[in-house]
Amino acid sequence: MQKSFFFKLLLFFFSIVAAAQTPKKPTASEIYHSLQKLNFVGSALYIAAHPDDENTRLISYLVNDIHAQTAYLSLTRGDGGQNLIGPELRELLGVIRTQELVAARRTDGGHQFFSRANDFGYSKNPDETFEFWNRQNVLSDVVQTIRKFKPDIIINRFDHRSPGSTHGHHTASAMLSVDAFDMVNDISKFPKSASKYGAWKPQRLFFNTSWWFYGSQEKFEKADKSNLVSVQTGSYFPALGLSNGEIASLSRSMHKSQGFGSTGSRGMETEYLELLKGSMPSENNLFEGINTNWSRLKGGKEIGSILNPLQDNFNFKNPSEILPELIKAYVLISKLEDKHWRTIKIKQLKQLILDCGGIFIEAASEENAINPKKDFNVNIEVINRGTTQVILNSIKKVDGKIIWNQSETLPYNDNKKITVSLHAEIQDPPYSSPYWLNEKGTLGMYNAPEKLIGFPETPALEQLVFELKFGAITIPFTKNIIYKFNDPVKGEVYRPLEVLPEVTASIPEKVLIFADNSSENVSVIVRAGKDNIAGNVSLQHPKGWKVAPAQQNFQLKRMGETQSFNFTVTPPSNQSEGYLKAIVNAEGQVYDKELVTIDYEHIPYQSVLLPSEAKVAKIDLQKKGAHIGYINGAGDAIPESLKQIGYTVTTIDPSKIQEEKLQDYDAIVIGIRAYNTVPELAFIQPILNKYVENGGTMIVQYNTSRGLVSENIAPYRLKLSRERVTDEFSEVKILAPENQLLHTPNKITQKDFEGWVQERGLYFPNEWAKEFTPILGMNDKNEAQTKGALLVANYGKGYYIYTGLSFFRELPAGVPGAYRLFTNLLSLGN
Ligand SMILES: [Zn+2]
Repeated sequence: MQKSFFFKLLLFFFSIVAAAQTPKKPTASEIYHSLQKLNFVGSALYIAAHPDDENTRLISYLVNDIHAQTAYLSLTRGDGGQNLIGPELRELLGVIRTQELVAARRTDGGHQFFSRANDFGYSKNPDETFEFWNRQNVLSDVVQTIRKFKPDIIINRFDHRSPGSTHGHHTASAMLSVDAFDMVNDISKFPKSASKYGAWKPQRLFFNTSWWFYGSQEKFEKADKSNLVSVQTGSYFPALGLSNGEIASLSRSMHKSQGFGSTGSRGMETEYLELLKGSMPSENNLFEGINTNWSRLKGGKEIGSILNPLQDNFNFKNPSEILPELIKAYVLISKLEDKHWRTIKIKQLKQLILDCGGIFIEAASEENAINPKKDFNVNIEVINRGTTQVILNSIKKVDGKIIWNQSETLPYNDNKKITVSLHAEIQDPPYSSPYWLNEKGTLGMYNAPEKLIGFPETPALEQLVFELKFGAITIPFTKNIIYKFNDPVKGEVYRPLEVLPEVTASIPEKVLIFADNSSENVSVIVRAGKDNIAGNVSLQHPKGWKVAPAQQNFQLKRMGETQSFNFTVTPPSNQSEGYLKAIVNAEGQVYDKELVTIDYEHIPYQSVLLPSEAKVAKIDLQKKGAHIGYINGAGDAIPESLKQIGYTVTTIDPSKIQEEKLQDYDAIVIGIRAYNTVPELAFIQPILNKYVENGGTMIVQYNTSRGLVSENIAPYRLKLSRERVTDEFSEVKILAPENQLLHTPNKITQKDFEGWVQERGLYFPNEWAKEFTPILGMNDKNEAQTKGALLVANYGKGYYIYTGLSFFRELPAGVPGAYRLFTNLLSLGN
């Protein structure tokens, strides 16, 4: 039900937001809007933890109303979230959400930064967060971003003083921002970024509060607001035909993977900011007392005297009129001593020169992907549709190598088309895959090369520099080489030009469970990243495991062609875990990456390179019973995991349960959040209870405590709570050592709780009838012990089990202890 709702939402937004890579072709009034931004010399940085934390209303206000350089620093890329638009989770979800943030900024006009922190999952407070994040390294990234971006004001989304009131990442982001604010001007703190970008002193630090932080709207209305600055963010921008609230919702709606489609608002809106550091502005003007005119820069006055009047006399019928003045300003801005503002303003001005002049430049590769060291053809189009004379002086590579230098005048509205052959040098990083995934990091931290820390994405590896001459002034314009094609339905489709390996390999099954000593076939798919490639593929394996054959030869004719190979994998007799790695040898090189593509309309098409591996686990596993009935909930991969260890799993349609012979099932398992999402469960509980009464075993996995379709989810009283244990390393105490769930058929020990991922469990019951026996006790640091993680009760001749343990995460991740315990639940009574 929910799915189709979001799907409709998606279709709606896809139809009004242009595709991501398509070049912007601004109207005269949008050009005017850019001119307003050019004339504001000030900046603001917004800081929070996740993609979608940011207040797009305030960001759009800062960009489009104040015209400030505005950036959002999201400490993480949101890997720990859910995905409502596709199957990608963890690092691939992080790639999607990174691009959703970049798309949001493309929409509201801001810039985007990240730190190396990984969104490893939920934490209850910042202390828990800092056990996973390397606090010094994340702080170093925040300090570096501030020194690089040099904001006049910094705004935190979250309150640094209330740990435990929200996600630990949230509070941690605010705490790091407060720490960084005090150190960025001290070059002895994180001296590397100080020597690279210089020290910086931001003027004010705010906390962007709202009624949410006060508990309710009523409480907020009554609260003392004397320490708050309020700004009106509801402006309407005639040049854009949109209100600030409408831009904000278009931007927010880019968080499609999170289902954050949002409807635009019009009219007055107020944002509140609490001053944390710096002087209180008197006029509800966040930049009060900060010179945001050209005169703030040495040599800026003269620039202002050229550029400011252009706003008053802007000719919407012919923006190219101002080109000569823009060129004059370009010469002056190029000479600014202040390197920071020189770089920003040159970039803004150059875009304005192209837009005003009606000058279109495009470099399109004939292929969508190339390999390093490869020659490839690029079709270039340059056209001048303005009245000013423009000479295309030369085309160069970024390293200065001349590609074309015939210095031709561009006649009015007459296409200049050139095809050139380029050679792709090996670069650093060599491929256009997300840079933060190139090297393995830790659970809490990404590994990133020094020079790319903070970057939202891997910069385009292939660019061209076009030198245009306006009178005596030559201006270089750098353009990414893109790929485009015509789709019969969509029309012109743009993609980034990607640089990818010559060959990749993948093991489609990501987790392979061996429940006994027999061998299994493992398939490996080799994919050509170029025409005509041959070599061999082998499977690296953990100690004690056997793989046959040792290697297999492949030969592929066409780029994109694949060939599949089977290897026989034999586990050792003892319990063992590790990774199989597909290794390809071809043309004297070793390749060990898998290629995954991400293709959604609201973000650029992209290829992601991941380690070409699969987890293998030989589990010491005894089981009873064979046939499991499964009632799906919100969706989980438990049935696939159970099939891997030899169970037959049949999906039960709850609306047809009357037709089922339930007694044929050795156990019935209810999928996660079924009592939140499957309305039929409100009516069939008596049938399920009857099944238990007659000797069946029923296992109910976690449901959220709110929004249950029925309170009667068990044959006895059982009340769900919000108790959860998020630390997957937390100690597990055995409360009922004699209970057969811990002995039959697998003897459960502390070792079985090692290697769990993301969390222990969630929404544990906290009240239950005396018929239930609590089996396990656990808690997060400094919290009371929970006892509701695993509850079992006899009912009639059968057993009812409720468990909030995160089996839906642990089994697909191949955690041996979780398999052993879950098998005991299934085996009960058999
Ligand atoms: Zn968040």
